[in-house]
Amino acid sequence: MLKIFNTLSKKKEEFIPHLKNNINIYVCGVTISDYCHIGHGRTFYFFDILIKYLRYLGYNCNYIRNITDIDNKLIIKSNKENISLKELSNKMINSMHIDFNRLNLSCPNLEPKITDNINVIILSIKKLFKNDYAYIDKEGNVLFSYKKFNNIYKYSFFKKNNNIIKQNNNFILWKLNKKNDLNGWSSPWGFGRPGWHIECSVISNKYLNNIIDIHGGGSDLIFPHHENELIQSKCLFNINYNIKYWMHTGLVIYNKYKLSKSNNKNFLLYKLLNEYFPDVIKYYLLSKHYRKNLNFSIKILNIYKKSIYKLYLGIHDLDLNIKFNKSDILFFNYYDNIFLDYMNDDLNISGVHKLLFLMLSEINKFRSKKFILASKLAIRMKFYASFLGLLQYDTKYFLSNKYFYKNKNYLKLINKINFLIYSRNEERKNNNWKKADILRKKLRKLNVILKDKNDFTTEWFIIN
Ligand SMILES: [Zn+2]
Repeated sequence: MLKIFNTLSKKKEEFIPHLKNNINIYVCGVTISDYCHIGHGRTFYFFDILIKYLRYLGYNCNYIRNITDIDNKLIIKSNKENISLKELSNKMINSMHIDFNRLNLSCPNLEPKITDNINVIILSIKKLFKNDYAYIDKEGNVLFSYKKFNNIYKYSFFKKNNNIIKQNNNFILWKLNKKNDLNGWSSPWGFGRPGWHIECSVISNKYLNNIIDIHGGGSDLIFPHHENELIQSKCLFNINYNIKYWMHTGLVIYNKYKLSKSNNKNFLLYKLLNEYFPDVIKYYLLSKHYRKNLNFSIKILNIYKKSIYKLYLGIHDLDLNIKFNKSDILFFNYYDNIFLDYMNDDLNISGVHKLLFLMLSEINKFRSKKFILASKLAIRMKFYASFLGLLQYDTKYFLSNKYFYKNKNYLKLINKINFLIYSRNEERKNNNWKKADILRKKLRKLNVILKDKNDFTTEWFIIN
């Protein structure tokens, strides 16, 4: 039985969804004001594993991840770069998709943008007004008011910490634009734009009808974002609002600080993916339990580079196409149980890492004398690793590229490939199939093999 830690109850709870087999999952997506950093990688990689595992357990997962494509930082950046907000957010969304594709994360079922949902946000703010949960301040902004909400302790993530609850000031629902800022929409309260917290209340309701099994995000979103979102949603939808489990991933920390705009330049996902194999980054991202914070250093990444190398090396000379017979299934029960125990215990991924190395030591023991058994162990090990998106490259390809990543020309090549893939996706979006095909041929000349899903490149490989 799968147990997951619910941030709201602070307990590990048995996973029992609202409906039997269909699960709704909402994960707060990226505010698309900059390239994604390694902290984003951790959150979305973790939820990707969770979804893969839930699908394996037989659930149909409807996975929604929003995109915050309007906020202060975006406006400042678009002014600085002298491009429109739309151009900037499109550029950042595309780079996010490329990063996540390179990590081979599954695409959400829907990825709604805030700017496509302004009307429904305005309707919700009107409703909050009508029920006395909103007011207009001196500057003309619309704010949420806690005054009428008397159940705050029941719905707070900090039940025992009154100080934190007291700090929770009323927050902005609709921000009036300053002069000359044309990035906004007309509303009953003037030309402006929505606040951050109202987005997720509205979008999760619109696309999932408030039947949400898991609501996820990074742990930096617990306060104030999720605290405000939860209380505001209760005010909007009352008993029709029901989230079963809140799940939060720990942060990536550098020199004791959370990654931020000022210190994250070296930790951008695309840069790290240019230097390290995706397996190395993924292994690092969950080398500690997903709820714990994780320290970042290049030294740690280089240690995991060796770990991944060992795993690929350990299976490269075995026969990975051998068929299993009935007695094998019994034999592998032992390992299956270890795997399931780790996964069912609030997704203990670092435990699964241990299992992979336990199997590697068995493989090494049997390699020379019992080749078939060693090969079967390798196949099963690859199967467990597949949930974590590890060991899925052709071993010969991986090993031949061990030093490849140090080559400076390689970075140029990767950038060129990314640009061609991005352009091809764009051409296909616009039904320019001939142009897309020319780009595919160009990529083929660079020895790039593409994997496409729903007219979008989800994965690519270079073959030598
Ligand atoms: Zn959110």
